[in-house]
Amino acid sequence: MSGLVPTPADTLRPSWTPPARGALFVVSGASGTGKTTLLRAALDQLPGLEFSVSVTTRAMRPGEAHGRDYWFISPEEYAGRVARGELLEHAGVYDRAYGTPRAPVEAALAEGRSIVLDIDVQGARQVRARMPEAVSVFILPPSVASMEARLRARGDADEVIRRRMAQCTEQLAGAREYDYLVLNDDLAAAHVQFQAVIVAELLRRERRMAWVDRL
Ligand code: ADP
Ligand code: 5GP
Repeated sequence: MSGLVPTPADTLRPSWTPPARGALFVVSGASGTGKTTLLRAALDQLPGLEFSVSVTTRAMRPGEAHGRDYWFISPEEYAGRVARGELLEHAGVYDRAYGTPRAPVEAALAEGRSIVLDIDVQGARQVRARMPEAVSVFILPPSVASMEARLRARGDADEVIRRRMAQCTEQLAGAREYDYLVLNDDLAAAHVQFQAVIVAELLRRERRMAWVDRL
């Protein structure tokens, strides 16, 4: 392979113009498969892409920030948001409640900004039902053992690891419902594959007719 070939992200930035409507990406995968790692790089390297900050009732982990990783809210506030219909989807995951605020997603898409949701398979089902335009990507680990090793290396507690591993079969079974599968074995390769999916979606004709009309 030639080192002269740019990555998908490299190709997008120089002539970047926002699309007519933003794209909605839904990313899932069992815990420890590398979703956060892949997402952070994509958000950093691709123009016009934003992260949907979820609400959660779980405690903040070291290194996390309120409003950047999650909005950390009380169970009472969460119940209120569900009751008022403010969440695009919501689900209980690993004994905690999570949800995607609806208004920022709708505003982003209408303004030509793309948005990426890191949510579980139950949440992804709700988003597909409500917004069929959503493009879903499932991140797969090379093996179940590697997933456990990554959780350990990340510093998750034994009890947390045990619970997450118990749920991983259920999450993996959901993989068949997704549009794209990315295998995160070699990390550099997974970054390029994941970003290739995003770039391709941003080049869909319905988003880019302005390029034709201009000619
Ligand atoms: P998730 O968000 O899916 O729970 P993370 O992105 O937090 O997963 O990744 C879990 C751990 O595995 C992190 O410490 C991360 O640095 C590491 N990791 C991610 N991808 C790879 C990979 N391809 N090879 C080795 N380690 C990886
Ligand atoms: P963590 O607590 O490790 O950040 O995330 C645990 C799981 O919750 C991950 O599978 C993640 O994708 C999922 N998750 C995070 N935010 C949301 C959300 O808003 N909705 C749903 N349904 N799942 C979420």
